Amino acid sequence: MVNVDYIIVGQGIAGTMLSWALWQAGKKVIVIDDAKENSASRVAAGIINPVSGRRFEPAWMYDTIYPFAKDTYHQMSELLQVPVLTERRLWNVFPSQQMRDAFMKKAADGKYTALPEQLEYEELLDQPYGAAVVQGATVNLRELLPAWRKFLQAQGALRETHVDIAALDVNAERVIYEDIIAQKIIFCDGVATTGNPWFRTLTFLPNKGEVLLVRVPGLHTDDIIKKSITLVPQGPELFWAGSSFVWDYVDDLPTDKQREILEKSLQQLLKVPYTVEAQLAAVRPSGNDRRPMIGLHPEMPSVGIFNGLGTKGCSLAPYMAAHFTAVLQGDAQLMPEVNVNRYF
Ligand SMILES: Cc1cc2nc3c(=O)[nH]c(=O)nc-3n(C[C@H](O)[C@H](O)[C@H](O)COP(=O)(O)OP(=O)(O)OC[C@H]3O[C@@H](n4cnc5c(N)ncnc54)[C@H](O)[C@@H]3O)c2cc1C
Repeated sequence: MVNVDYIIVGQGIAGTMLSWALWQAGKKVIVIDDAKENSASRVAAGIINPVSGRRFEPAWMYDTIYPFAKDTYHQMSELLQVPVLTERRLWNVFPSQQMRDAFMKKAADGKYTALPEQLEYEELLDQPYGAAVVQGATVNLRELLPAWRKFLQAQGALRETHVDIAALDVNAERVIYEDIIAQKIIFCDGVATTGNPWFRTLTFLPNKGEVLLVRVPGLHTDDIIKKSITLVPQGPELFWAGSSFVWDYVDDLPTDKQREILEKSLQQLLKVPYTVEAQLAAVRPSGNDRRPMIGLHPEMPSVGIFNGLGTKGCSLAPYMAAHFTAVLQGDAQLMPEVNVNRYF
């Protein structure tokens, strides 16, 4: 038998950051991931945005989670020798006078710097109401996830297979899965958790997002450009363009309907032609209260969950993984807002 402290199911951003935090704390982990091609983390743009929604409200806990995330991603970048975090301007094109007014009100409170005096991208973007600049960042998930996977593999801490929950042998003290015996198993399996019998009472509101990869000749920028659609640089003139939010969906595959909607938004943003190179879709693991779902099962303490990262996996995961690790070590109490007990 292989003896470990933790089995982690899933290596999206949740499983990546939790296995990192536990490894940093000196714990022995095995991560089991079935490499779903269109998992949320493999399709996401990795944006970290300090503000939420149309009213430019500060994102939840941003002042705490962002510095922590920045520091953690830099440490991972050094260890794994891949670029992870890139700080970027978020160029918010106002779609209406109302949005501009909402921003100006916030800017008057001293919360944000006002609009740039000189609008850039005038030849390329349709921005009659101007744009506001906020400082954001992106996490390079396309390199971070495979690099961490390779690192785990080199430590003998990765299994590339699907975990069959029905085959788990669980009691309050330990978990056995195939040849692995662990003190605990933590599910970081994203939207798949909706079918997990241990966490049936959790009220997930998963939502599907679709994305286009587009080439925009002449648009050279490191900025994230946001209107009703968001462009995130992926390479010379190549952009991730998304994404939609659909709660009522039949599967997790791209659809013609969303492509049409995304293209309409693109045409409202761009004054220049573009070509679509690919279309992707994935489902976000969101809870009904938009807060992470973290903790151990109240009746089976060898089974835990680290999930519900919703639209903000990249900003929330580093801090929440470190917090959960401290809780697992008995050094902290789980924040009530994220404690999975609220569902039991
Ligand atoms: C279109 C779109 C755009 C997004 N953009 C952003 C963004 O810009 N910024 C941001 O912060 N967030 C963004 N998000 C949200 C972000 O993707 C999620 O918050 C995050 O990816 C959730 O990560 P996760 O690890 O919980 O789940 P996932 O990424 O879904 O990972 C779950 C993993 O578990 C594995 N798995 C599942 N079941 C099993 C099993 N039984 N056995 C083995 N392995 C299993 C899967 O293969 C997968 O690798 C976006 C999401 C979408 C869909």
